[in-house]
Amino acid sequence: MSPVEPIFERLGLIGVGLIGSSIARAARARGVVRTIVASARSEATRRRVVELGIADDVVDTNADAAEAADLVIVCVPVGACGAVAAEIGPRLMPGATVTDVGSVKASIIKDMAPHLPPSVHFVPAHPVAGTEHSGPDAGFAELFINRWCILTPPPATDFKAVERLSAFWRGLGANVDVMSAEHHDLVLAITSHLPHLIAYTIVGTADELSAVTRSEVLKFSAGGFRDFTRIAASDPTMWRDVFLANKDAVLEMLGRFNEDLSLLTRAIRHGDGQSLFNLFTRTRAIRRGIVSLGQDSPAADFGRSHPTTLEPLPRPYAADDE
Ligand code: NAP
Repeated sequence: MSPVEPIFERLGLIGVGLIGSSIARAARARGVVRTIVASARSEATRRRVVELGIADDVVDTNADAAEAADLVIVCVPVGACGAVAAEIGPRLMPGATVTDVGSVKASIIKDMAPHLPPSVHFVPAHPVAGTEHSGPDAGFAELFINRWCILTPPPATDFKAVERLSAFWRGLGANVDVMSAEHHDLVLAITSHLPHLIAYTIVGTADELSAVTRSEVLKFSAGGFRDFTRIAASDPTMWRDVFLANKDAVLEMLGRFNEDLSLLTRAIRHGDGQSLFNLFTRTRAIRRGIVSLGQDSPAADFGRSHPTTLEPLPRPYAADDE
């Protein structure tokens, strides 16, 4: 992709972890903003951002980063967004666009909107892209390419502000969709939040079995478990906040999931192979649909390269005498 004209003059970037640092890298690589002023909670992260050179300026407070910015992006855990909005609200420039990247939308609007002056455009967003890694070193400029970014503007939002933020995200390589916050939260509950909950559960259950299975859990993890461990390695703070903030939608999807799991349990108990076969045929078609939409690689084994040497198994699954 070739660089594009700056869409915003000054980006105030609040929080420089995986998502914030990917935005900084991508915005700079693509030239969609003229300058980037970043802030982060800890001194260590601020120092690292200076070392990485991914922002033009790094300041000590969120309010300093937001001041004079025509685009402010809040990239902190969902549960921290309200406090950040309270901090930056009084210093925002009239006409500025304020957005976030949180994985839950209705609760963020409820937490942030009361602190933002009516003179700014609040356009909440969620780039549906990520990895299980965190922090400023984890980001990369290509993270958003061919991924969706969902905007959830409240009903009275100026459509020109929505269009301008859409152009920003398209400039980073993303596809943009617009929907209500409530609809977003329901869709993401099934496509993202429930899968994470299931992964956390399975890996937790296996961990409890580790006394009997010892190193076999990892040794034979390629049987499917390994893919769950990648998801279950996701940031604990981020995911705690997601489940607390999207409680209703997650509980709704969890209820449906439990009903379907009971049906499968019953089919297995009664030797009903046809029901199992029918379901697995349907789910295979869904996987093929995701690949054909370019949302994952068709490469066997998810395109992983295979190590030629066997590394010792990490704890807690390693044998006691290692
Ligand atoms: P991350 O790598 O852990 O970075 C979080 C950033 O927020 C860090 O700069 C951290 O500062 C700062 N922070 C943490 N707690 C804070 C607080 N209480 N007040 C102020 N700043 C705080 O997280 P991330 O993966 O980039 O996630 C950031 C947001 O993106 C979350 O809302 C998440 O829901 C959303 N999101 C994540 C993904 C994903 O796959 N990870 C995908 C899409 C959207 P320090 O470094 O100084 O601690």
